[in-house]
Amino acid sequence: MSTFKAPKGTYDLTPPDSAKYLAVREALSAPLKNSGYGYIETPGFEDVALFSRGVGESTDIVSKEMYTLTTKGGSELALRPEGTASVLRAALEANLHKLGNLPVKLWYSGSYYRYERPQKGRYRHFSQVGAEAIGAEDPALDAELIILADQAYRTLGLQNFRILLNSLGDKECRPVYRDALQEFLRELDLDDDTRRRIDLNPLRVLDDKRTEVQKQLVGAPVLRDYLCDACKAYHEEVRDLLTAAGVVYEDDEKLVRGLDYYTRTTFEFVHDGLGSQSAVGGGGRYDGLSEMIGGPALPSVGWALGVDRTVLALEAEGIVLELPSSTSVFAVPLGEEARRVLFAKVTELRRAGVAADFAFGGRGLKGAMKSANRSGARFTVVAGERDLAEGVVQLKDMESGEQQAVALDVLVAEVQQKLA
Ligand code: ATP
Ligand code: MG
Repeated sequence: MSTFKAPKGTYDLTPPDSAKYLAVREALSAPLKNSGYGYIETPGFEDVALFSRGVGESTDIVSKEMYTLTTKGGSELALRPEGTASVLRAALEANLHKLGNLPVKLWYSGSYYRYERPQKGRYRHFSQVGAEAIGAEDPALDAELIILADQAYRTLGLQNFRILLNSLGDKECRPVYRDALQEFLRELDLDDDTRRRIDLNPLRVLDDKRTEVQKQLVGAPVLRDYLCDACKAYHEEVRDLLTAAGVVYEDDEKLVRGLDYYTRTTFEFVHDGLGSQSAVGGGGRYDGLSEMIGGPALPSVGWALGVDRTVLALEAEGIVLELPSSTSVFAVPLGEEARRVLFAKVTELRRAGVAADFAFGGRGLKGAMKSANRSGARFTVVAGERDLAEGVVQLKDMESGEQQAVALDVLVAEVQQKLA
């Protein structure tokens, strides 16, 4: 151990576990790559105002959880707490919405930072795979994203997750509801913090997890009763498309999500094996966000799936991903001459596209064979002085245990043929 440790609320990914994270990222993004989404990458930090304006001053993310810093040049920056505002900013900056047909469909994968109280499933540095479809108001797009996330979780083998679905209305009907809700909430017995929230972001009070608050919320006006006809029809269409696709969801009129920019469709994927950090992913429509950050009207929809919690969900269901070994051949030289010859063979194998590794460090046969086993390689190649004198190496199939002498100059071809 060194003097240093990973900062509080963070953890390192190290082999062999790190392979699982790579596989999860791959599985979460695979359906997107297959559905017309292009890859986008944005900086790890942004102008702090992008988030305060986009995500909203009154949200937990901006008011409590953001890592902000002032640069030597005096710029106010924030480590990105989420992906949507950055992706939209970048899409606008690159004029993606003018260059091609709408919607612009993008996917991303990366690190996010929130100053949270660390606990299982809640970290200060975590990783998300996300998708955004920018510039189209079409219920099929909302449905597409939910279907693709569902597909991603299912290809990983997850079963014990549920999809919660709601509509938050639009700029016509939401304000009317907001007024009615504020009126109701002002009559309740709430602490000062929550009272302030009534003015800033009353919908979030519905999300309060405390039972003493939830008890008082019985009889609160529900958004569904306030949705305008356009929002109602839109939501019905999303629901019908999901049903037609065989995707099961639950209507959850309390689902408001923690970000200000959501309109109409909102959804969350919750996993039942994760305790209180149950959300593995979430998203929704954000028709007003582009204008909030100074862009044109671009109705959009997106989601972000948490990689860390998806890995925890796999563990909760006892799912062990089948991760093929990354090494096919492991070379074990016995002696100085063999070391040179086999090192050259390993290079040759690699150049031929065969994943190969080598017993470095000049250990004895026993230690080297241990490394070979640990590598998970299908074949080992062992050679000593006597083999080299005969121009052969010993090729061992680690699965069957069979061993045969193979002429040095046909080794690469022989291995390729056996692996094919
Ligand atoms: P929560 O309700 O758990 O705080 P959230 O609404 O803040 O979640 P989003 O902003 O929607 O989460 O982020 C999408 C996903 O990213 C979440 O569903 C979760 O899987 C993951 N996520 C969010 N915050 C964290 C965190 N601090 N640590 C690990 N994963 C996180
Ligand atoms: Mg949160």
